[in-house]
Amino acid sequence: MTASAKIEQIVLDEICLAGEAWMGEVKQGQYFRIIDLEGNQAVDTLFISANNAEERYSATDTLAQNQQLYLEKGTTLFSNFARPIASIVDDNCGRHDTLGGACSCESNTVRYAHDKYPMHSCRNNFMYALAQHPIAKKHQLNVRHIGPNINFFMNVPVTAEGHLKFEDGVSAPGKYVEIKAEMDLIILISNCPQLNNPCNAYNPTKIQLVIRDA
Ligand SMILES: [Zn+2]
Repeated sequence: MTASAKIEQIVLDEICLAGEAWMGEVKQGQYFRIIDLEGNQAVDTLFISANNAEERYSATDTLAQNQQLYLEKGTTLFSNFARPIASIVDDNCGRHDTLGGACSCESNTVRYAHDKYPMHSCRNNFMYALAQHPIAKKHQLNVRHIGPNINFFMNVPVTAEGHLKFEDGVSAPGKYVEIKAEMDLIILISNCPQLNNPCNAYNPTKIQLVIRDA
């Protein structure tokens, strides 16, 4: 953990293995840090209000309110009720994507080849976690609660012509992003298992997740 965080502030410190799903809960005012341990790892993330699962991270509200395409230090993340849901308070990666969406069986076939359909994907990770994780059961979450997500550490530049590109990274080993919860949150992560584009450097790797009190 960081030199600035005292050990008694840390309420959770876990590793999410390459390609796996993860769920956690963060209280309003707590800080949630994602560390890209080995670099160039896309971390597909959803934030859902723990008090009302109908309220969750909204990519469109966030882009519209910030008037900016990329997420970075200082960006406030907004919900589909146009309220601040979280904010990026620290970051040494530079920028994060919220345009590229989560990979799925369907996107694997459209982008790559029909025989890529059964490959492990972020949408499958989200559905698997929502089907069996105790936090999902506690909050009665299901596939309906999957919306457009954030891709932390993922490099999706928008070209001058307005096209999206999936490019090799802006991240590197040890880069991190720290998010302050602006309300009690459920966090759902797919540590992207994608092998067909450079967002994971064709090599999915583990991440570290740390929750701490203010
Ligand atoms: Zn993915």
